[in-house]
Amino acid sequence: MLKVAINGYGTIGKRVADAISLQDDMQVVGIVKAHPDYMAKIASKKYKIYAPDEKSLKNFEGSDIKVEGTLVNLLDEVEAVVDATPDDVGKLNKPVYEKFKKRAIFQGGEDHELTNLSFNAYANYDEAWGKDYVRVVSCNTTALIRTLFPLTSYGKISVRATLVRRATDPNDHKKGPINSIEPDLKIPSHHGPDVATVIHGLDILTMAVKAPTTLMHVHSVNVKFDKEVKKDDLIENWKKYKRVMFVNGKDEIKSTGQIMEVARETGRPRGDLYEIVLWKDAVAIKGNELFYYQAVHQESDVVPENIDALRSMFQLMDRDSSIEKTDRKLRIGELAYAR
Ligand code: NAD
Repeated sequence: MLKVAINGYGTIGKRVADAISLQDDMQVVGIVKAHPDYMAKIASKKYKIYAPDEKSLKNFEGSDIKVEGTLVNLLDEVEAVVDATPDDVGKLNKPVYEKFKKRAIFQGGEDHELTNLSFNAYANYDEAWGKDYVRVVSCNTTALIRTLFPLTSYGKISVRATLVRRATDPNDHKKGPINSIEPDLKIPSHHGPDVATVIHGLDILTMAVKAPTTLMHVHSVNVKFDKEVKKDDLIENWKKYKRVMFVNGKDEIKSTGQIMEVARETGRPRGDLYEIVLWKDAVAIKGNELFYYQAVHQESDVVPENIDALRSMFQLMDRDSSIEKTDRKLRIGELAYAR
């Protein structure tokens, strides 16, 4: 059993911890929590709790949450760390992991240069093979790679996409926008180059807009091929990838609200949806160009990628075996919904 620490137990960390616990070749030894808040209390029923450092250990004095020690004590007991601390905190933790000679996964809020290896299981599983430090790309980048990688088998493609981003996550009470739409004034946005750190050499430019919603992102994607492609053929090809899922507007699934309702109704933990969702009836071809919309559950789509990245770093099994195992344990692909 691969022994793993979770450093940063928020939106991503708690989901990755539970997903690791469902696997039979890895286990969570402990999680790192800075404050004795309600989430630490819930987590303490499932996992051993550690504080980031001696100073934050003091935060737990007088609380009824048992703390086993600090991050460095936890590092003694594990082979790997999944760092899911907030954006740019992971880079401060890396020297600690290096000092203790522990391999680590970082998330998309860190720069590519932190590891020089950005990861997506479909696209570059083998590049993480035996590596010490890997970055799982962000929710938006993961989503673009999931649906674009299958299209690379058709030859050279050129991608232009506009991302409508959720303003923040549902539990966040600090960030906005609340009643406005906020375009990313940096054009192209950072998402396109980030995709190209994984699908090397891909011609992709993106723009992004933040909208006052917390449920999901929606991407509007345009792909140019250098030859004619058929819609049915593209759809059959996408269907080979379980982390891509179709829904239909004609079934009254016309919004992110209804997609999230599917996830809640079909019994996923927390109502999560690991798959990237395409509206099948809105996949359109005009000449050599493809147009489609996809919806992205930002809180959960990167979770399976963290599991596969661990297997590749520790050379536990090949790409297809890892993806199949992760998908089976997380029930990915079972909600296949479209007719
Ligand atoms: P979050 O704020 O929900 O969780 C981070 C947790 O880390 C919080 O519980 C915070 O208290 C804790 N923390 C802060 N400083 C710490 C420290 N020094 N040591 C240990 N814990 C510390 O953040 P998140 O949304 O889970 O994001 C984590 C990473 O995942 C970021 O890189 C982010 O960009 C990336 N990511 C987020 C999403 C998303 O939609 N939320 C999607 C994909 C990737």
